[in-house]
Amino acid sequence: MSNIQKTLSIIKPDAVERNLQDQIKQDFINNGFEIIKEKKIHISKEEAESFYKVHESKPFYNDLCTYLSSGPIIVMSLQKDNAVMDNRKLMGATNPTEAEEGTLRKKYGISIDKNSVHGSDSSENAKIELDFFFKN
Ligand code: UDP
Ligand code: MG
Repeated sequence: MSNIQKTLSIIKPDAVERNLQDQIKQDFINNGFEIIKEKKIHISKEEAESFYKVHESKPFYNDLCTYLSSGPIIVMSLQKDNAVMDNRKLMGATNPTEAEEGTLRKKYGISIDKNSVHGSDSSENAKIELDFFFKN
């Protein structure tokens, strides 16, 4: 049975800064994702804090929010069968040094904080995160 889903993907500042967005978008397309919506934005620290609220209590929260608001990002709505989990697989482990060969974070990530891409971790969170960036 098919399970068409949408998920939120973000190309983070380190990747946009290195002009990797076209290459990363092509990776998504090559792996069967359709880019339904996309926009390039530069969010404020406050918006980053709101987006990453789930990580509020973590030691890396402040740096993470400073980082995500440090430069332009590309936010995308990606669609395919099992998009949420397939995107997580394509991204690879949070720490690029632990990510499998061929994954986006292995190919492009610099460090655990500059790991090039974000992806929703559940279909529930995908809806919340897509609404965050694409409502209206
Ligand atoms: N992060 C970090 N240090 C850590 C753990 C996470 O800087 O020790 C950053 C990293 O960029 C990661 C983001 O915080 O992508 C969100 O963390 P999460 O555990 O949700 O990882 P993800 O879902 O992005 O793989
Ligand atoms: Mg996460």
